Amino acid sequence: MAKRTRISLFSISIVFLLAFSSQLSVGQVIQTPSEKTGFQEYTSYEDMMVYLEDLQATTTEMLLSDFGTTIEGRKQPYAVFSRPLITQPWEAMTSGKPIVVLAANIHGGERTVRESLLLIAREFVTPGTQMHALLDDLIIVMVPTINPDGLVRASRGNSQGVDVNRDWIKLEQPALYNYVRNILLTWNPHLFLDGHNGGSQPYNICYQGPANAAGDQRLTDLCDQEIFPYISEEMEANGYMAWYYSRGDSTQWRTAPTQNRISINYGGIINSIAVLFESPRQERDTGALSGLVATRALVQYVADNAEKVMMTVDRARRETIEKGQNPGGDIVVQMETGPKPYKVSYYIVPRRERGGSGGGGGGAEVQQPQEPVFITGADLIMEPIPTKTRPWPYAYILEARAYKAIEMLKRQKVMIEVLQEDTEIPVEAYVPVEYVRGSVYDHPASVTSITVEEETVQETRMFPKGTYIIRTGQAMGRVITHILEPETPDNVITWNTMDAILPRLGAGGGGRRGFTGAPPDTTAMQRAGAGQRQGQEEQQQQFGCAGSTPAPGTRDFQLSIQAMKSWPIVLFNAIHEGRCDLRAIGIVDRF
Ligand SMILES: [Zn+2]
Repeated sequence: MAKRTRISLFSISIVFLLAFSSQLSVGQVIQTPSEKTGFQEYTSYEDMMVYLEDLQATTTEMLLSDFGTTIEGRKQPYAVFSRPLITQPWEAMTSGKPIVVLAANIHGGERTVRESLLLIAREFVTPGTQMHALLDDLIIVMVPTINPDGLVRASRGNSQGVDVNRDWIKLEQPALYNYVRNILLTWNPHLFLDGHNGGSQPYNICYQGPANAAGDQRLTDLCDQEIFPYISEEMEANGYMAWYYSRGDSTQWRTAPTQNRISINYGGIINSIAVLFESPRQERDTGALSGLVATRALVQYVADNAEKVMMTVDRARRETIEKGQNPGGDIVVQMETGPKPYKVSYYIVPRRERGGSGGGGGGAEVQQPQEPVFITGADLIMEPIPTKTRPWPYAYILEARAYKAIEMLKRQKVMIEVLQEDTEIPVEAYVPVEYVRGSVYDHPASVTSITVEEETVQETRMFPKGTYIIRTGQAMGRVITHILEPETPDNVITWNTMDAILPRLGAGGGGRRGFTGAPPDTTAMQRAGAGQRQGQEEQQQQFGCAGSTPAPGTRDFQLSIQAMKSWPIVLFNAIHEGRCDLRAIGIVDRF
């Protein structure tokens, strides 16, 4: 009897230990480093790494790893949450479940949503929570900080002072390159979140979807018609408020910039539902906790609507490839934003007039919020309106010397092919008229605009062995067309990859200092600009080119007709005829 009792006591103690350890393992005792300070301090980079390791030690449903290293040598951590645990992107893709990337802190000083992600990470590993239950239905890939070098400085940029959130097209900054290559273009999420600090009071979270007209608008529509109303509802149920980024007045609400060099808009052209969260100025605990509620709602929406989310994204991806294989659609190369065809209501917090109460502090008093004012019947300036389109081609051609542009395309995981023998190909060519340089972000002499003749040239040309061919019928088709159309704001010429091979410029003698191209061809310029009208008209017809007069003393560069005839860049050639003989193409590089 005594022996038996001892055994059962022993087994009771085991049960107790198991219960105790399982209680530990659910992570209930693990607080985020910020939480430990009552949200007075943000979680540091080092403490974040320890916290993530502590979480992983409690569960078999979290994989912690890193996707790259920053300029200063910091690891960029990511965590996969799934049930059963998957470790490879192909497992996620064949799982039949939606893949969601939750990321924040691309602007190093913007840390609120990052705190929300650290909180929701604990819920993913804690049995009994709603988020833990959802791991049956979707796969979460979390990147709490894209820009660790900026985080440790609490700066907007990285260690070089570069705004990484303007680098999505050129992908020159290692932190973002690693994130795009190894997370977004490897896990191919159906939806990804990008967390920032911005937007307007009295809202706790401001949201927005892809804003550029070059993306599949059905991705944006899903955000506007379903995801954002759902988030607003959930926020309200928890005592918070959510509305669009970024600010409004008594007549209109204005939304985010539309360039594809910015996260959510880039999301649109890689056919992913990109969701921007901006946390406006508020108490730190309110910011982190309201961001948590909004992120939960986002994840919940995807889990509840998995089929719809996957179908919308898969269709956008399939149609992008088909557009290139059977070219016929249009590329939006330029756009503007106008009012939505419906009116909206929202709150604004009027700014307190400065100088009212004497005292020189100024800025500090502006922080004191005034009573929100409810605005009704206002415009929502968010409708993307294409202002210029070009036909979607079968492929683009780049000459062999354009290797820097090829490098940029490779950074975007674009498949590049090369001619194995001299090949005659019917092409359409743009005729450039002028281009203008200016300082844009970290590029002091970027090409800010290119003007080409409205009419293109149709011709059949012999392209030598070694010429690059970039077909648009691939998953990155929208990125390819945006990067290789000369009139977009973010192309290979904009970001200086073509500088070394740009043609001679007849610029009325006014080349800008520091320009690396050939000196102006003044003889050709004279022919093109003034005089000799008769011969010129013939050429104009032939090339669809009206020789424009250079603007003396400006920074603009003008191209002469002579320069165009010997235009060395075949970038502007687009193949529209898919049946042309391309048997001599060989793949040089898939990535
Ligand atoms: Zn930001």
